[in-house]
Amino acid sequence: MGVPKFRAKQIFRQLHIKRVFDFSDMTELSKQFQAELKERFYINLPKIEKRLDSCADDTVKYLYRLSDGACIETVRMVYHHGVTACISTQVGCKMGCKFCASAPLGFVRNLTPSEMLGQIYGTDADFPPEQQISGIVLMGIGEPLDNYENVMQFLRLISCKEGRNLSLRHIALSTCGLVPMIGRLAEEQLPLTLSVSLHAADNETRNALMPVNRRYPLEELLSACGDYFRKTGRRITFEYAVIAGENDSAAAAKQLGKRLRPVFPNQRPHVNLIPVNPVAGTGFQAGHAEAFRNLLAQEGVNATVRRTLGEDIKVACGQLRRDTVEETEESVVSTIEGVSGL
Ligand code: SAH
Repeated sequence: MGVPKFRAKQIFRQLHIKRVFDFSDMTELSKQFQAELKERFYINLPKIEKRLDSCADDTVKYLYRLSDGACIETVRMVYHHGVTACISTQVGCKMGCKFCASAPLGFVRNLTPSEMLGQIYGTDADFPPEQQISGIVLMGIGEPLDNYENVMQFLRLISCKEGRNLSLRHIALSTCGLVPMIGRLAEEQLPLTLSVSLHAADNETRNALMPVNRRYPLEELLSACGDYFRKTGRRITFEYAVIAGENDSAAAAKQLGKRLRPVFPNQRPHVNLIPVNPVAGTGFQAGHAEAFRNLLAQEGVNATVRRTLGEDIKVACGQLRRDTVEETEESVVSTIEGVSGL
């Protein structure tokens, strides 16, 4: 286009700091340049289709509609240390985990980096400047490592010092265990937190819960976790949804300890326990996370039980779907008061 380099910086600042999402409103640029930009590029941001506020806490769930009509969900959670957004990385998911609401609807497509950024910027725009998002978890709909390039580009953009400048230290990426991609991520040497969804201590149970385990069984997964730690010096956290009668026995705790203790030499492994969240049709019931935590403690494994936020608006792990429009209308509007913005 034959324009000086500093223009790129100007546009970047307009987008990522000033949050101007229409070239015509970028008043630093000449009218002619605005028109040229409009002709060649478009700013692809998801639109808020629905906002659901929890009555129990400050959690808010957004249903975003993308430019092709597809929908995804984003959750905004308030903690004492700041505001965290749980964002989606794909429309639907291929991984087919048996306990997850995103799975039965299948996979549609990957999200672009701008559609991931848009979930942050759109949500921030709904709140005053002092309540902006300060942390991100890539734990919404989709498998982030199955959309590797776009997720990496998103991470570069959101953490860019000249833009939103959100530290990667405040970002967690969760994976169901795509072993080769864990290896690739280790090479990037990013200071983010990697979470691995384990949910079982033996291959038989994990095969039944998570089809991905048939491709990358526990031995390979935990060996990749060990390599990741050696390469990056960063400990991995493990996610474990406690499911009554499936993965919460004393034998499971023992086996989990045996498998996890060698992964990080000289460090106690850390497991996040989540009583499995009910998802219609799965038949799974929450196990006793506290009891399982005590069993793990005896095996030398640190575990914390994750607090569930926004239960009334179905924002909990594994409850996000790509087609919530009708479902939210029926189940939420009829059951809770004070739902705003519908
Ligand atoms: N695909 C990624 C991230 C998405 S899900 C992954 O698998 O890690 C975020 C977390 O919620 C994962 O640990 C996932 O296994 C967990 N999860 C899914 N369904 C759940 C449910 N019904 N109850 C509790 N946790 C669930």
